[in-house]
Amino acid sequence: MPRAVVVGAGIGGLTAALALRQTGWDVSVYERAPELREVGAGLSLWANAVRVLRRLGVGDAVEAASAPLRVSELRSRRGRLLIRADYGDLERRLGVPNVGVHRADLQAILADAVGREHIHFGMTCVRYLPDEKGATALFAEGDEVRGQILVGADGIKSLVRNQLLGPEPPRYAGYTAWRGVGRVDRPEVPVGLTALATGRGSQAGLLPIGGGRTYWFASANVPPGGAAGPGGHKAELLARFRDWWPPIPAVIEATDEAAVVRNDILDRPPVRKWTDGRVALLGDAAHPTTPNLGQGACQAIESAWVLARCLAEAETPEAGLKAYAQARFDRTARVTDESWRLGKVLAWESPLKCWLRDRLFGLLGGLTVRRTEGLIGAEV
Ligand SMILES: Cc1cc2nc3c(=O)[nH]c(=O)nc-3n(C[C@H](O)[C@H](O)[C@H](O)COP(=O)(O)OP(=O)(O)OC[C@H]3O[C@@H](n4cnc5c(N)ncnc54)[C@H](O)[C@@H]3O)c2cc1C
Repeated sequence: MPRAVVVGAGIGGLTAALALRQTGWDVSVYERAPELREVGAGLSLWANAVRVLRRLGVGDAVEAASAPLRVSELRSRRGRLLIRADYGDLERRLGVPNVGVHRADLQAILADAVGREHIHFGMTCVRYLPDEKGATALFAEGDEVRGQILVGADGIKSLVRNQLLGPEPPRYAGYTAWRGVGRVDRPEVPVGLTALATGRGSQAGLLPIGGGRTYWFASANVPPGGAAGPGGHKAELLARFRDWWPPIPAVIEATDEAAVVRNDILDRPPVRKWTDGRVALLGDAAHPTTPNLGQGACQAIESAWVLARCLAEAETPEAGLKAYAQARFDRTARVTDESWRLGKVLAWESPLKCWLRDRLFGLLGGLTVRRTEGLIGAEV
């Protein structure tokens, strides 16, 4: 059985490991963290990702651990409705739901499906050595592991990418995001609602992730590298979002301070080179995107599926990896570019531009919804 080495046990690495195992690879995953951690709060998993998870046999488990997203609303900061999209129709047409899920729940389901004995924690890859018939991963802990292929699924600051393409810092989008999970019981938030409110240089949104939990996120135009002030994240967020659409401050208030995560939002402009012989990049290591379309993990899941399929169909692993990179470039580049542009518009600060933006969203809402549906509905 050919051996695949996967670096990184995030959603991309675990989905790739699962897809590769199902197509006859003996897969080992190496993760620098000592265990799977509960970081990152929630995720929207759109139908394009749920469809792949179903094909991989984990659809039922993911759908049981998540909450369906049936209606999407875009609102002004104070709560005026700008766009409302009913995803129930889309779900009926596609036969696949959009769901909200806790990242840790999804990772646990994927890890169980891969087989925990194939995941090695506390292993930090520091370099890879390519050869004619494979590649060897070298670890800070002193171990060396060779596979017929090596998949770098080690995130936006990927070591494998740095070696493959040369070091290049990710680009800061100009805004920072806070995330958390709380509970919200308000009439404005019916079951199945995902909502985003937009303000001047700020946005905030929420979605259900199952078990009565609500995942929320908020962003603001601030310099990169910031940390919580003396009063903590919640005090800062409540000062910023106090007078917003009421469910936003309510769910922030109902969240544990210790569970709030703050990240600068980063991506990288798309590049076509994702492979080096028997080594390939996947997920944020290959096609990182800002979170405005909620597609980063969804695209990593799609890439994992396409990677395994291309390898299964190709004469040689090199050809399979090349075919994978070619098959995935256009779609992931479109997501990265559209998400970046949307993020810029949502981060506008000028009152006039924001007023125009909100009017245009109201007028062109149908178009925006159709574009999103086109992205979610496309087969890979
Ligand atoms: C605020 C925010 C909101 C988001 N919301 C959504 C959303 O709603 N829907 C969606 O689809 N996506 C969303 N995303 C994007 C999504 O989180 C990422 O695209 C996705 O997690 C990428 O998965 P990955 O496996 O490629 O990388 P990661 O999740 O970053 O995993 C990489 C793994 O590699 C490990 N690693 C790193 N370096 C090494 C090394 N040298 N050796 C060994 N292991 C290593 C890391 O510890 C990590 O576990 C969001 C992102 C942000 C920032």
